[in-house]
Amino acid sequence: MKEQKTKHRYSTEAHLIYGLSQDPHWDYSHHVLPPISGSATFRLDSAQRGAQAFTEFAHTHDGNTITSQAPIYVYDRLGEPNKDMLEENLAFAEQGDVAVTYASGMGAVSAVLGILTGTGSEIIAHRTLYGCTYSLLENWYPRLGIRVKFIDFSSPDEIRSALTERTRVLYCETPVNPTLRLIDLKAIAEIAAEANARRDSEERIFSVVDNTFATPYCQRPIQNGIDFVVHSLTKAIGGFGTDIGGAVIGPRWSYDRLLLYRKDFGGVLSPRSAWSVLVQGLPSLGVRMRQMQLSALTVAKALVERPQIECVQYPGLASFPQVELARRQMVDYDGNFAPGSMLHFVMKGKTPEESLHRAERFINHVAQNSYCVTLAVSLGNIRTLIEHPGSMTHSAIPPGEQVARGLNPGGIRLSIGLERPEDIIRDLEASLNAVRT
Ligand SMILES: *Cc1c(COP(=O)(O)O)cnc(C)c1O
Repeated sequence: MKEQKTKHRYSTEAHLIYGLSQDPHWDYSHHVLPPISGSATFRLDSAQRGAQAFTEFAHTHDGNTITSQAPIYVYDRLGEPNKDMLEENLAFAEQGDVAVTYASGMGAVSAVLGILTGTGSEIIAHRTLYGCTYSLLENWYPRLGIRVKFIDFSSPDEIRSALTERTRVLYCETPVNPTLRLIDLKAIAEIAAEANARRDSEERIFSVVDNTFATPYCQRPIQNGIDFVVHSLTKAIGGFGTDIGGAVIGPRWSYDRLLLYRKDFGGVLSPRSAWSVLVQGLPSLGVRMRQMQLSALTVAKALVERPQIECVQYPGLASFPQVELARRQMVDYDGNFAPGSMLHFVMKGKTPEESLHRAERFINHVAQNSYCVTLAVSLGNIRTLIEHPGSMTHSAIPPGEQVARGLNPGGIRLSIGLERPEDIIRDLEASLNAVRT
C-alpha cells in the first residue's frame, strides 16, 4: 500500500499535509486537493448492494483494514470520503488506531462516554474541566443513572481510593483548562492498568483525555498509555476558527461502536468542515504551533515582569511548578519540548473580589482598545484570544465552587495566535497600564 510506505519514509508533518491523498472509493486523480463531497446520499448499483452496505456498516470483518468496514457509501451520516480521509490523518496525528469525527467537541466527548458507560456505571473526572463537559457530567449523566465523582487527579492515591467496581472511565484534560496545571498521563494509565489486572473485561476501566489544549503536535496521550483521546477540532487543529467539529481517537475495537453511535445519535461532522480541517487545519498544525509557542514564551516572560500580575502559568517558563512533568510529557513529533500556545495569569488583588474586579476592568479595556488581542471564547485560533474563565467558559461551575475546583476569580486565559509577540505585548501592556490603580 502506497500510504503505508509513505508513513514510514517521511516525517509526521508530511503526513499531516498529504494524508492518504486518495480515497480508494473516489477517483479525482488530477486534483491536488480532494474536492468537497457535497452529496447527502449516494447512488447504489442494485438493491443487493444497498442491503450489503447496511449489513457491512460498522461490522468489522477484517481486523487489518478499516476501509473494509464502510466499503460502500450510502448516506453521509454513515460515512463519506472527506471524513474518512480526515479520520485517517487524525488517528495518525495522535498515534492511535482509529479516529471518528463528530459535529463538535462536545459531540465527541458525549460519544466516547456514551460507548463506555451505561446505567449504573460511574465516571471519575478531574475536578476542573471545560464548562460544558462539567455540565454534561453534572447535569445530564445523573439523570441516566450514571454516577460522576469529581476528584483531584494530581493525587494518584485519591484516584485509587475513589475507584469502585462500577468505575468505567477516568476522565481529564491536561493542561487543565484554564489553569494550565498538568496531570501526569503515565500515572493515570498505570492506575487504570493496575485496577484492570484484577478485573474481568466487562468491568474494565478506560482512561479518556481531552487533548484540545495541547494538540497532538505538543502531546500524544495514547503514547503515554491512555486509551482514548478527544478533541474539539474547532480549536487549534482546525486552527482558523472557521468550523465547529470534534473527534475521538482510540483503539481499533472501538471503531464500530463509535461509528454506530454517530449513526444513531446523529452528531455528524459536515463534509465542508471535514474538508477545512483536512486541507487547511492539519497541514498547517506544525508550523502554527511552532510559531505560536515561541510567541507564547515571549509573552509569558513579558507578563511575569508586570507589577499588576500576581502569577503567570505557562509550562514553558522555568518557574512553572511542574516543569519536570511538562518536559517529559509535552513533546513534539521530533521529541523537542513543546509547551503549547495557551497561558493563564492572575491579576493582583488584596482580596479575591478585588482581583476579580481588576480582571474585569483589564478584559474590558482589551475588548475596547486592542487590535491584536480579541475578547472571545475558543482557543488555538490564529488570532490571539483572551477571556475571563470565571464569568465566561467556566460559568457553568457555580461561583462558590470555582475556588474549590482550582479556579481563581482573577484568572485570565490567553490563547496566543500568529501575530508577532511584540504586537500582542503592546496591546496587553496598554490595558495593564489602564488598570494600574
Ligand atoms: C472547546 C472545548 C470543548 C468543546 O468543543 P466544541 O467544539 O466547542 O464542542 C471541549 N474541551 C475543551 C478543552 C475545549 O476547549
